[in-house]
Formats: sequence, structure tokens, C-alpha cells
Amino acid sequence: MPGDERLVVGPGRLIVVSGPSGVGKDTVLRELFRVEPRLRYSVSYTTRAPRPGERDGASYSFVDEDTFRQMVERDEFLEWAEIYGQRYGTSLQRVRDAVERGEDVVLKIDVQGAARVRERVAGDAVFIFLLPPHPEDLRRRLKQRATEDESSAEIRYATAVSELAEQEKYDHKVVNDDVERAAREILQIIDRGRGRISG
Ligand code: 5GP
Repeated sequence: MPGDERLVVGPGRLIVVSGPSGVGKDTVLRELFRVEPRLRYSVSYTTRAPRPGERDGASYSFVDEDTFRQMVERDEFLEWAEIYGQRYGTSLQRVRDAVERGEDVVLKIDVQGAARVRERVAGDAVFIFLLPPHPEDLRRRLKQRATEDESSAEIRYATAVSELAEQEKYDHKVVNDDVERAAREILQIIDRGRGRISG
């Protein structure tokens, strides 16, 4: 059935990282890739506009609505989700090619996408939820984002609170109390899991 084809992961692994918006996923993942450059980042497709400093093909592949819709129709996404009115999707081909080459692939996706990956993936995948040390920090961090206006920061905060409720579905929870420490903990989880088969 279209869209239900299972992805058999291996020999590389999938590392799925979720967490509420504003928790610092980008910063922690940047540190993770600095200490372990062999990890491969799954560059998602999105319909949202690039933020300052974001490069097409590195942060995301930026596409228009029409292109995204065609990709959905052609079943080119491992998962996709609508978040704050924009679409985000993980390329099935990019992920499959990388794991077949034996690379460990990191997916930075929201809780809806992670749920979909859980359903579709057979093989070696680990699900990590990044948590703020104090949930009230989220509001402050979201407000600090220069590109967000007040009301969209509030929406993101409300979404973040509901996303926190999903944390129990993950294999591991990591608190982002310190960027280097959190990245190290994620690396330990990845290293510990090597050779473990789940799903
Ligand atoms: P942002 O617009 O701030 O970069 O990302 C917003 C949210 O979209 C974040 O929670 C991020 O993890 C999520 N996201 C980014 N790429 C994907 C994707 O390919 N699939 C899904 N489901 N979520 C994604």
C-alpha cells in the first residue's frame, strides 16, 4: 500500500531526536556532529521560508507547496507533518541510501513524525527526546527568537507543552541542561546501542 512500505534499517542506524520547539535541538545536534562527524544529518524538506543564516540543502531543502505535495503523492517521504501551518518531511531515499552505506543517520523531527517512523521502520532505530531543564525556560527561549512575533511564540509555547506529553514514548530522555553534556549523553546512547537490534 502506498506510504506503508516498511523501511528496513541497516547496516547503519536511525537516531530520531525530538523535543519541544525552543529546547535547543539545533545547538545540541551541532555539538553532537562536532564531536562525532561520522554521523549523518537527515536534511528535511520544508515549505517554510529560510531563516537568516540557513542554507538550502544544509539546514533544510526549501521547496514550495506544490513541489512538496507532488513529493507526498509520489510517496517520497518516510514521514511528513504539518507544523505551524508549514510542511516538513524526511526524504525516504536520502535516509535509505545513507543507512545502506552503513551511516548512522540523525533525524530531527517532531513528535508526529517520530510516531510515523516508529510505525514504518524495522531494524535498528533509537528514539531520543530532548527535554528542557525547566519547562518555563521554553517561553523565554521562544521569545528570544528574533524571527518570531509574540503570538507565534505563544502558539509555539502551547505546542511545546503538548509535545512534552509525548516523551514517555521515547527510548531515552536527555535533559538539555548543558549543551556539551547533553550531546555527550546522546553520543553515549548511540554508542551503547551499536549492534542492538530493535523494532
Ligand atoms: P523549525 O521550523 O523550527 O526548523 O522546525 C519546527 C519543527 O519541525 C521542529 O520540531 C523540528 O524538529 C520539526 N521538523 C523538522 N524537520 C522535520 C521533518 O522532516 N519531519 C517532521 N515531522 N518534523 C520536522
